[in-house]
Amino acid sequence: MVTLDSVRAVHLTVTEESTAVTHPFLDLAPLSAGRFAAIEDRVARLLGTRQDVVIMQGEALLPLEGAIRAAAGPGTVALNVITGPYGQTFGNWLRDCGATVHDLAVPFHTAVTAEQIRGALAEHPEIDFVSLVHAEAATGNTNPVAEIGEVVRAHGALFYLDAVASVGAEPVLPDAWGVDLCVIGAQKAMGGPAGVSAVSVSERAWARMAANPNAPRRSYLSLLDWKERWIDGGRTALLHAPAQLEMLALEACVERIEAEGLQTVMARHASAAAATRAGVLALGGLEPYVDEAKDAAPVATTLRTPPDVDASALVARALEPDPALPLAAGGGALAGEMIRVNHYGPDATPGAVQGSLAALGAALAEKGLKVDLEAARRAAEEAWDRPTGPGLSPTDTGA
Ligand SMILES: *Cc1c(COP(=O)(O)O)cnc(C)c1O
Repeated sequence: MVTLDSVRAVHLTVTEESTAVTHPFLDLAPLSAGRFAAIEDRVARLLGTRQDVVIMQGEALLPLEGAIRAAAGPGTVALNVITGPYGQTFGNWLRDCGATVHDLAVPFHTAVTAEQIRGALAEHPEIDFVSLVHAEAATGNTNPVAEIGEVVRAHGALFYLDAVASVGAEPVLPDAWGVDLCVIGAQKAMGGPAGVSAVSVSERAWARMAANPNAPRRSYLSLLDWKERWIDGGRTALLHAPAQLEMLALEACVERIEAEGLQTVMARHASAAAATRAGVLALGGLEPYVDEAKDAAPVATTLRTPPDVDASALVARALEPDPALPLAAGGGALAGEMIRVNHYGPDATPGAVQGSLAALGAALAEKGLKVDLEAARRAAEEAWDRPTGPGLSPTDTGA
């Protein structure tokens, strides 16, 4: 016969067995609505924004796609700026939503200028949506968002920005720049998890979504669901069980940035980019892929290999002695000619930069190319202490 006592005995036995194999990632308590809201507020502070910040339970592609599908429809006329592979993806989503899309593509070794944006808006005054990637880790360039924001605001278009590769590496200030939809992810300069992301949403953007009959609703892609069921309800009831592991990691990651200081974290990235660029110029053999230092992203430095040297093979050789170095070949068509030094997050350090330069130098020397390892080391060391570049304008460091 099953008695209450025998049930309790079974429960206790099971509990004892499971506590015998505790694990830091397992058996996590549910994350409360209050904790979730507090993490959102912390991310908002990091961005210096008074807009609503919605944390999304997925990699940054979730809010990137969700925001476009919510804001764009058959009536939308979009200016889609292409400075790398992500811009291409956004254009495809916009077309899929039925929007009329004017692409403005610039060579991947440059940045777009506010003048070019002004020209495109003048040519197509009916444009009411502008999509832009701030920094592209895949191509190593960064765009002057503060200046572009002024032009977009004067025109009145909704401004969508992918700041995944810039947040933590250089200033990202949605309110000061008039960004209506600013998407971030934690996995680059923030040194956090890839499974969680966030978007700040202006009142204008909420209104545009609410008026869009095609905006996802009752869908995992939906931003409006978060507005109606979470924000408007005073953030007391979550839409679904939050991903505790990612949320706790995001909280820890923002806490760590606050402890180090956002300015210090950004300065490390600016130093890493300046040191890598200076080191490569002194090394010889390779060239910075982005022509001008002012257009080079603090998050990652891209390099061009000589015509007869395959970038993938060179990177593979350079990584043999130390596979932990933050080196990668370019993606897709760039794999033959581009090297990426991903000096972000925990790799925005003199050690990672010097190690990468030494490894690339050794691999080039092995191929018979003339390189000066000692000059590269010295140049990188000096540039680390005196960086210049997009992260460092004292007028826009904000926060
Ligand atoms: C890295 C990055 C993302 C996120 O994409 P992953 O390929 O998953 O890392 C989005 N946008 C930009 C501009 C990025 O650099």
